[in-house]
Amino acid sequence: MAVASIISTISYQILFVNVFLVLFFGYDKIMRNEQWLENRFEYIFRNYFADVEATNQIEIMWGRRSRRQLGCIKKEQPKTLADRFKRDFITIIVINGLFRDEVIPEFIIDSVIVHEMAHYAHGFNSPIEQKYRHPHKGNVIRREFLLRGIGDLEKLQKKWMKENWQKYLDDNFPQSRKIHKRRVKLFFR
Ligand SMILES: [Zn+2]
Repeated sequence: MAVASIISTISYQILFVNVFLVLFFGYDKIMRNEQWLENRFEYIFRNYFADVEATNQIEIMWGRRSRRQLGCIKKEQPKTLADRFKRDFITIIVINGLFRDEVIPEFIIDSVIVHEMAHYAHGFNSPIEQKYRHPHKGNVIRREFLLRGIGDLEKLQKKWMKENWQKYLDDNFPQSRKIHKRRVKLFFR
C-alpha cells in the first residue's frame, strides 16, 4: 500500500473516531471536561499563586449551571475521625457549569479561579491563617488581582460579563417569563 494511501486511511480513522466521540459524548464534554479545568487551575496556580503554600489538597470541579453564581470555594468536611483529629480537610473550588460552553471566553474561567484562589490565600476555606475579617469587604479581592499583576484580567472579566452575560442567559438558559426582565446580579463566594 502506498504511503499516501496509508496516511489517508489513518486520517479517515481519526475523523471517524472524532465524529463518534462528538455524537456519543457531546462536543462540550470532550473540550472542557474535568481534565481541562484541572489543567487551567494548574496553570493559574503555577503562574500567579506560586508563593502560596498549599498545605492541603485543593480540588477543582464543574458545578451546576447557574445564572448568578460564577464560582465558589468550600471545605469538604473530614470524613474519618482521624482526619477530624488532624483537622485535615480538602478545599474544593466549584466553577459555574455554564462556563463549559466554549462560547464563554477562557479568561472568564481564569478570572473566577483567581478570585477563588484569592480567598484561599486570604485563609478562607483554606488552612492558611485568615487575613481579613470578611472575604470581600475592602476590595481585598481586587487588591489581590492587582498585587499579582493581573488587574486587567479582572477588568476584562467584568466588562465581558456586563456586556454579554444577560444575552447569553436569554439565549441559552432562559427562565420563567415572570421574572424574565429582571437583570441578573452576579456574585462569587
Ligand atoms: Zn468571593
